[in-house]
Amino acid sequence: MDSSLPIKRSHSESKESSPLNSASDETLQTASGDEHQEDDEMVRESLSLDVVWRGNERYPLRIPKYATVLSIKALLEELTGVDAESQKLLGLVRGQLPRDHDTLAGLGVSSGTKVRLLGTPPSDRLQPRSHWEPVEEPGQAGRSHVLSTDWAERLRRLVAETEVRVLNAPRPGRKLVVLDLDYTLLDCKNVTGNVADMARPGLHEFLAAVYPHYDLIVWSQTRWHIVESKITLLGMLTHPHYKITTALDISSMLTVHVLRNGREVDHQVKPLEFIWSRFPEYYGPHNTVHVDDLSRNFALNWQNGLKIRAFRRADSSPRADTELYKLARYLLQISALPSFEALDHVKWQGR
Ligand SMILES: [Mg+2]
Repeated sequence: MDSSLPIKRSHSESKESSPLNSASDETLQTASGDEHQEDDEMVRESLSLDVVWRGNERYPLRIPKYATVLSIKALLEELTGVDAESQKLLGLVRGQLPRDHDTLAGLGVSSGTKVRLLGTPPSDRLQPRSHWEPVEEPGQAGRSHVLSTDWAERLRRLVAETEVRVLNAPRPGRKLVVLDLDYTLLDCKNVTGNVADMARPGLHEFLAAVYPHYDLIVWSQTRWHIVESKITLLGMLTHPHYKITTALDISSMLTVHVLRNGREVDHQVKPLEFIWSRFPEYYGPHNTVHVDDLSRNFALNWQNGLKIRAFRRADSSPRADTELYKLARYLLQISALPSFEALDHVKWQGR
């Protein structure tokens, strides 16, 4: 799992001294002004690609110039089902195939370039692919009871054997928010063609607002290059007002056998103990909030779980979604507490 995406990092430091009590609104407003600028910049710095697959399927994309070939393949994998590894993109560079870590800017690709995608989707394309995060159906939101007795031992092995890439060092004295990606921070399945539109409204304002008080870890039930591509395309690794501590993928998840709504099933969970074991001097049950649209991911850490409504661009008015603004206020309200262990995050919206 070698990461070959060149990541442009900003060296500007965020202001980390915003006093909690002068509260969230001010922080949010400041971040919001900056965000419009960021958005404008992202649009100016992006270019359009006209991708054609199988002769007549067209995917008009608007992609940041700093995107790598691999991140475009990851996006096309979401849209077409063709594995990124088996894709060939013709037309980006005359007469040759670009390398995965080349950027559009580095290749000198101009806006409006026509690109031909070669690749065949897996024959079981109609089956849900394993890295697709299944949607939690209504009525399934009840807490599951873990029946597995060997999960602690398997988790110990997972912690010992799984590589974690620290993008930015944990900061002393900060609390931790663990963030799911799909349908929590973005909707990748309904792209309008403009990558900036994948983001949930308020994404960067939210991250910038909580960053002074919380370290940020992204955790997504997919393969590493998809996780990295999504957060790179959205500008989450280069934003001047927050930094991501690390991003975890499906390889850090654990399968457990549970009793759920009277049925015994196996499913994967995101065990926070994985993070707590890796960074014991920084994070623990007392200072971690785990935000996810799938509550079953909380099965080993119910108390830390905060379920957020799933965000889908297919909804009639995606721009009306205000969950991340509300979540920022909640996290800032509780950020001064010495421990979160007495909180019931089920009531987060009513606080
Ligand atoms: Mg999700």
